[in-house]
Amino acid sequence: MDQLILGRPASRQQGQAASGQLRKLDIRLPMETGQADYHLRTGEQRLAINGWVGQRIRLHSSGQIHCVECGRATRKSFGQGHCYPCFSSLAHCDLCMMRPETCHYFQGTCRDPAWGERHCFRPHTVYLANASGLKVGITRGTNMPTRWLDQGAIQALPILDVDTRQQSGMVETLFKSHVSDRTNWRAMLKGEVEPLDLIAERDRLLAELAPGLEALRRRFGEDAIQTVDDVAPLMIEYPVLEWPRKIVSLNFDKTPSIEGTLLGLKGQYLILDTGVINLRKFAGYQVSASAEAA
Ligand SMILES: [Zn+2]
Repeated sequence: MDQLILGRPASRQQGQAASGQLRKLDIRLPMETGQADYHLRTGEQRLAINGWVGQRIRLHSSGQIHCVECGRATRKSFGQGHCYPCFSSLAHCDLCMMRPETCHYFQGTCRDPAWGERHCFRPHTVYLANASGLKVGITRGTNMPTRWLDQGAIQALPILDVDTRQQSGMVETLFKSHVSDRTNWRAMLKGEVEPLDLIAERDRLLAELAPGLEALRRRFGEDAIQTVDDVAPLMIEYPVLEWPRKIVSLNFDKTPSIEGTLLGLKGQYLILDTGVINLRKFAGYQVSASAEAA
């Protein structure tokens, strides 16, 4: 597991720089390599950074933050890059996004019912993933495999297709009595993750939870919750040269200038020899980034 393939020399970018309003890392999974492919996004710029692994990089935050939704300047970022007015009014910033089983559409208190109809009343998928051990999660069908790449999962397997977000939240709640829904990000970044037999875990969980799933099907309809058949677990590799022994968490609010050798990329994290930084947390920050060839 230690020997991960890095980008070929030809794809190495040297002395590249980007600056602008930071967005979450764009991570794709090319089927040819099976290795996560990272792009740094600042403003309109999109820069391939797998080639930065092994190089000395510098990140600097000017301290300015602009809301990722409306663009207004904000002194503090709420919910990964929102100003307070957006955070407290947008449907996708509401607590039911974190806890879908608490969907309050039917109580008439959805912040934006039309948005809810477009995003929540859509098929969702319940999956098992392995980012720091076995976990359960839900995602919209269209958000795979991005969701798993963002979490730093090394394996993932869709197990159930569910009609709506609320119902998938109820299925997830059922699973949470048997399996975690959290990632231990420190363990994920230390690379101490043993591969699991996700097919066997799925079969075990579906058998153990059969009565609960049956009850949900009686409530929402036989077709509302369907087993995903004939799908193999997805295996994901990350461009990491070396795992950190100790995790030091870096933060633009405390350390506006961050420098060090980039040891790897995993989930939404940059792993440097000087510490790790979750870039998603700093969406909306005005940031410049550059790498110099070692
Ligand atoms: Zn805003």
